[in-house]
Amino acid sequence: MKILVVAERRDGGLRRVSLELAAKAKALGEATILEIAGDRYSPLPFVSALAKKVEAEKPDLVMLGATLNGRDLGARLAARLGRAYAADVTALAVSGNTLEVGRPMYAGKVRAKVRVQMPAVITVRPGAIPLAESAASPDVVKLEADTSAEKLEFVKFAPVASSGKRVSLAEARVIVSGGRGLKGPENWHLVEDLADALGGAVGASRAVTDAGWRPNEEQVGQTGKTVTPDLYVALGISGAIQHLAGMTSSKVIVAVNKDPDADIFKVADYGVVADVFEFVPAFTEAVRKARSS
Ligand SMILES: Cc1cc2nc3c(=O)[nH]c(=O)nc-3n(C[C@H](O)[C@H](O)[C@H](O)COP(=O)(O)OP(=O)(O)OC[C@H]3O[C@@H](n4cnc5c(N)ncnc54)[C@H](O)[C@@H]3O)c2cc1C
Repeated sequence: MKILVVAERRDGGLRRVSLELAAKAKALGEATILEIAGDRYSPLPFVSALAKKVEAEKPDLVMLGATLNGRDLGARLAARLGRAYAADVTALAVSGNTLEVGRPMYAGKVRAKVRVQMPAVITVRPGAIPLAESAASPDVVKLEADTSAEKLEFVKFAPVASSGKRVSLAEARVIVSGGRGLKGPENWHLVEDLADALGGAVGASRAVTDAGWRPNEEQVGQTGKTVTPDLYVALGISGAIQHLAGMTSSKVIVAVNKDPDADIFKVADYGVVADVFEFVPAFTEAVRKARSS
């Protein structure tokens, strides 16, 4: 089975999701890891170059990360080549010429199992595939973007200011998110301290970002980011369906809420019924001690 993985870079290194895909592709068959070179992602030059490569090499499967750019490029590629397409894949198995993929649907309310005939294109969620050490530095083939296909004019890039200190939400293996139960932005040090103690990123519910307590980039959920960390800690978050849509694929979910009937406990692996102002400082201290010993 021939597999083409389209890799992405961030800050010079391959993104973690690209390493995850490389690992899976190597386990499944004959893998080529491809990086499309261009000044920046631009849909038409990228899809044009990639489509030509796929038509020439005829891989059975093209895998991309379900990132902002990966989703865009994967859907365009499948449409252009008339290949089957599955987005946001979280589980993947191969049987003969058929892929069996798991993917969340309806904003995370159900998990579907879908059979896809190859040749196919899929995007796979970051964190869905365990990272194998053997894939730490895969050989990457460069492919030039097809600039002759460009129809857009680049005007300017406006990066979002971030604290710089913590990992981004999309890449984070640990996320600590705060909700309205934190009562106000002046208490966010509780969320940040725990995130730092665990070496993780900070997230928020929409109630929090709508109130302007935290920037929109930190919002997790249906209209925010979809995250799949190893550990998701929800502090003072009720567990509205729109929030759950963005985080229920996390491997382990810990919830702290003073209401024992809060919906977040329905998806939590570990639930703590407590006041965040009492529990979180003590928990953070315990984590610091445990990690330093
Ligand atoms: C179209 C649409 C899209 C949406 N998209 C999103 C989205 O992407 N992401 C998202 O998060 N929401 C989204 N929402 C909003 C969502 O419906 C909820 O309103 C929101 O998630 C609630 O945020 P919250 O849990 O922080 O606040 P609340 O629902 O007010 O919950 C606060 C929780 O804190 C607990 N609490 C209070 N004090 C304490 C304390 N001292 N200690 C411990 N616990 C305490 C309470 O028991 C409660 O459970 C969307 C809504 C709509 C209509």
